[in-house]
Amino acid sequence: MGIVHTGVVVVGTGFAGMGMAIQLRRAGRDDFVLLEKADDFGGTWRDNTYPGCACDIQSHMYSFSFEQKPDWTRAYAPQPEIWQYLRDVAAKWDLARNTRFGAEVIGARWDSAENRWYVSTNSGDTYVTRFLVAGLGALHIPSIPELPGIERFAGKTFHSARWDHDYDLTGKRVAVIGTGASAVQFVPRIAPDVAELTLFQRTAPWVMPKPDHVMPEWSQNLFAKVPGAQRAYRHLLYWVNEVRAVGFNGHQRILKYASKLAAANIRRSVKDPDLAAKLTPDYVMGCKRVLISNDYYPTFNRPNVHLDTAGIAEVREHSVVGEDGREHQVDAIIYGTGFHVTDSYDYLKITGRDGVDLAGLWRDNGINTHLGITVSGFPNLFFLLGPNTGLGHNSVVFMIESQVRYVADAIRLAEREGADALDVRRSAQDAFNAEVQRKLADGVWTKGGCTSWYLDSQGVNRTIWPGFTWRYWMRTRSVDPADFELISRTRPAEKGSGLVPAIG
Ligand SMILES: Cc1cc2nc3c(=O)[nH]c(=O)nc-3n(C[C@H](O)[C@H](O)[C@H](O)COP(=O)(O)OP(=O)(O)OC[C@H]3O[C@@H](n4cnc5c(N)ncnc54)[C@H](O)[C@@H]3O)c2cc1C
Repeated sequence: MGIVHTGVVVVGTGFAGMGMAIQLRRAGRDDFVLLEKADDFGGTWRDNTYPGCACDIQSHMYSFSFEQKPDWTRAYAPQPEIWQYLRDVAAKWDLARNTRFGAEVIGARWDSAENRWYVSTNSGDTYVTRFLVAGLGALHIPSIPELPGIERFAGKTFHSARWDHDYDLTGKRVAVIGTGASAVQFVPRIAPDVAELTLFQRTAPWVMPKPDHVMPEWSQNLFAKVPGAQRAYRHLLYWVNEVRAVGFNGHQRILKYASKLAAANIRRSVKDPDLAAKLTPDYVMGCKRVLISNDYYPTFNRPNVHLDTAGIAEVREHSVVGEDGREHQVDAIIYGTGFHVTDSYDYLKITGRDGVDLAGLWRDNGINTHLGITVSGFPNLFFLLGPNTGLGHNSVVFMIESQVRYVADAIRLAEREGADALDVRRSAQDAFNAEVQRKLADGVWTKGGCTSWYLDSQGVNRTIWPGFTWRYWMRTRSVDPADFELISRTRPAEKGSGLVPAIG
């Protein structure tokens, strides 16, 4: 147990935390600490090891712009390759030197007298820092439904993000609960091995064909040897993805047309017309995340794969009973039920100016931020991939890169002005939220006829950035000083770095 003083604390070592750390490194700073509760870099790509796990945005786009990898093996790389990429990037930028693994942040308190954050961890260590950057990830706390009777179940249970590789599924009768992005990837992989697989579907997802392919050797050579070739390819992918935002934001006719094509694809892929009908969503495509797979629908032609849409009434010692009274004997239950998203901050105790509790504030008033990054009353606290900066149509790494540049600019602004802290003005935050919610009101997430994890308990979309990502990039290119109140201690503010020396 100890107290460590540093300039910047960055929480999390996924794309976001690593991107922030590298941005600081590139700015010539070493006065930062990365706190990571797990024991390696990689975030999402360290935790999700289920069979078939892969990205669903093209790898050449779903990677850092400043660390492009010419030799991605597939258009959509599998999880081990993405995880290795992140570990390689971490090694190249020597991030381990600044990282404390096994350090779970349990709370942070802003001290208005000192203008410092006191960040506490589960080990009892406290980090005293001027700037606090939260790259906690929106999809990392598994959401597990409360099934009646689950405590009686004598078989195996696990969540897709905590895959138990020691448990051999061969010949087992398996219930899969949920039909989100992960289930769509692992169901086709485990179906050939298990004796029986019953998929419990509450809502059908729209699943489009996946334009996946091996990256040919010539293209890998081209990207490695011809300057600018990979960058040009990345630009192409970026703009192709960006076009999808048009449909999602107010032009639902395009999505309705795409839904018809997708429904025809389901009918073509699934032999049994009743089953095909059950697998066809009744809402407009894009309302929930659009998934991609070439083997999801054909999996339902297997005699050992069953779809249950009645809902789960209860779990017994060796079975799952549907609302329709059918009892399915199972050895294992796998939760493909996603993550806590809009309530993911509830488990952290963050207190800002005047002792205001962030989770409580957001519970009572809704989640509000400026640009998804700063929150009024919480000086020098920055979120990465925070509220309303998630995407359904392009790579979030693009958003993360915009944000880390913005945060670095904010730190520079504070130092240039000789201020201890920056607190975003409530007026700027309110204006941003009003604008985002006005735009979302027209979007497919609101009007598409579904509920989704994008929405909070009040049905308000706190997750998605509405519109083009280049607009977000423009908005975050530099910090507008007028948006912030500058705070200084009564004694003269420190000039220059003004930061307490870094640890070790
Ligand atoms: C299976 C899967 C596939 C995905 N595919 C795509 C895709 O193709 N394209 C796309 O754009 N997005 C995709 N996503 C979304 C994905 O989460 C983001 O793209 C991205 O990885 C998020 O990076 P992050 O750093 O913000 O969060 P994460 O990768 O979740 O990293 C957060 C890190 O913070 C750590 N942490 C959290 N809380 C604490 C704490 N209190 N103390 C210390 N450490 C903490 C976690 O252990 C983790 O290492 C996918 C998500 C999943 C789950």
